[in-house]
Amino acid sequence: MEYLLNSTIIALEKGDITKSDLDCIVNAANTSLLGGGGVDGAIHRAGGREILDECIRIRNKQGNCPVGESVITTGGRLKAKFVIHTVGPVWNGGNNLEDEKLGNCYKNSLNLAVQYGLKSISFPNISTGIYKFPKDKAAAIAIRTVLDFVLQNESFKKIQFICFDDENYNIYQEKLRAVL
Ligand code: ADP
Repeated sequence: MEYLLNSTIIALEKGDITKSDLDCIVNAANTSLLGGGGVDGAIHRAGGREILDECIRIRNKQGNCPVGESVITTGGRLKAKFVIHTVGPVWNGGNNLEDEKLGNCYKNSLNLAVQYGLKSISFPNISTGIYKFPKDKAAAIAIRTVLDFVLQNESFKKIQFICFDDENYNIYQEKLRAVL
């Protein structure tokens, strides 16, 4: 499903983000940047050692990546040239700035992509797996943050949401239809 907002295509896909051929994909990493389960594991497996080596270099330089922030590495063997690693918040009841931190993941990743001159970006459903953020709430934040960004910034050709599970896909479909 694709919509046009200003000059940016907003796309919804179901599937595996490691197969994306956009300029960059976003990884739902953890603060260590050293890889983990879920989409993080899948990206490191598909992209190979080069991604991990760069993550280690970044970590040695700046320490852990704070929640809500993003760093960028090569895409290694992936089709995407770059991976933007962002650290989503762990859901902890909702009174610990989870919403704001999740919004920051999307905002900071988009800003980093712009800094690198990237024109297309693919997002997974950050924090909705192991980190247990409620899917409906996470989708609302992701969509609102991305659409607000696009209304301020016309530099992206395409911004894609990739949903791995049917539940997220259906939530995104409904929400995007309602606003676009
Ligand atoms: P988090 O720790 O941020 O919750 P997870 O990797 O556990 O990260 O889950 C984030 C989302 O990524 C979940 O919705 C999960 O279904 C999805 N996911 C898992 N593997 C992939 C993949 N290969 N491509 C796209 N999304 C994936």
